[in-house]
Amino acid sequence: MTSSRISLVMLALAACSDPSQEEPLAPDASRPDASVHDASAFDSAPRDAQTSDGAIGCPPARDGRSLDQLVRAIVSNMMTSAGAGSNALMVPSAAARDAFADSVVGALSGDLRKACKLPPSYRIVALRDGADDVLVAAELDPSGAPAPKTFWGTYAARSPATGTRAIVLEAPHPLFDTNTAYEARAVFSEARGDWFLMAGAHRCANAESAGCDGTTSACGGSSAPYRVSDTAHATKTPFFAVHLALSTKTDDAFIQLHGNAQACPDALVSDSSGRYSDVSTSARLAAAIEARGPSVGRCGLDYPKAGCNLCGTDNVEARATAGASDACTDKGSMFGRFVHIEQLPSLRQVPDGGAPKGYQPVVDAVKATFAVR
Ligand SMILES: [Zn+2]
Repeated sequence: MTSSRISLVMLALAACSDPSQEEPLAPDASRPDASVHDASAFDSAPRDAQTSDGAIGCPPARDGRSLDQLVRAIVSNMMTSAGAGSNALMVPSAAARDAFADSVVGALSGDLRKACKLPPSYRIVALRDGADDVLVAAELDPSGAPAPKTFWGTYAARSPATGTRAIVLEAPHPLFDTNTAYEARAVFSEARGDWFLMAGAHRCANAESAGCDGTTSACGGSSAPYRVSDTAHATKTPFFAVHLALSTKTDDAFIQLHGNAQACPDALVSDSSGRYSDVSTSARLAAAIEARGPSVGRCGLDYPKAGCNLCGTDNVEARATAGASDACTDKGSMFGRFVHIEQLPSLRQVPDGGAPKGYQPVVDAVKATFAVR
């Protein structure tokens, strides 16, 4: 977090190492139709507007939806527009990828000039999230409806405030790992995290290989290299670049949420190093989850083992934060800021207020583990 976040301007407001066993996409029938879009709640803002402080920039549009509603609308669109085999992801050049990340992180930190540098399909919207102001960068049309062109993902940042936590929530597999996008959003909102990152396409959307370490049978057939659309295993993705930019710019911890269907405990927790330390952030979060009821496995201690082996050691975001010079091929060595959680379907269910508790124990464990500012 830097002081630039303080300058936030609010217009009108003043894995998976072998994910072959991951959960396939299933419709979430437990919630109302997320595709419903209330255009009346959205005030479109022109680009290159004159801002109140005299600087030229592209101010956010005010959005009356909740972040949950916005995320659900985007995921609903993604299911039909960016599924497995869709080849939806527009793979950027390295320069375009890095420029995008710079624009996203800058714009969501309050630099309205950076917002003007986003691809034309992207808009910045401002919404309320509980007690906080949140800016979101997403591919939306002028009415606020999802209108993806690049499928580079959705990103949100919370305005600095007392009571927030220095954490980044990541959902790299929003379609393949059922409910993890909604879970990441819930943790971000309830724990009042700094950043929320959600991939823009199915991990198996594109046929092209990522060119990074590891193989998977997640996309069908025999084991094959990860796809370029697999944001947890491809450094060509804008999602990866935004992660790397945040890893460099902030001291925040990262919590990356996945889903599996292996013969595993409810949660399999790792710092992606392949080792275990009792005093690590991942160990503390594992204990906090366990204390709330779910069974927990600990990578580097009693896992990986046959039939339950998803410890995230070839996860490119984990490697980048560990200081890898090239996260595609280099593991890095400075682990501790990144926590990788694989979860059985029951732990990823949307809580219904009673039983099942779904992901509520994870939300509560994060709140108990990470200090409040
Ligand atoms: Zn996953």
